[in-house]
Amino acid sequence: MKKELLKKEETEEIVCPRCEKEVIRDSVICPFCGFGILAWLEGEIDENGRSTK
Ligand SMILES: [Zn+2]
Repeated sequence: MKKELLKKEETEEIVCPRCEKEVIRDSVICPFCGFGILAWLEGEIDENGRSTK
C-alpha cells in the first residue's frame, strides 16, 4: 500500500472517532464526516463532538 511508503512521523494519521477513517492529524476537520479533528485533539470537544468546557 502507498501508505506504507510514508513515514508515520511525517503523516501523523489518526483515526477519526466519528467515522473511523484515517485522516491526517493536521486536518482541522475530518474530510469525510466534518468532525472537528483539531478541536478534539486540543480537548475542546469529546469524541461525540460535545464541548468539554
Ligand atoms: Zn470523520
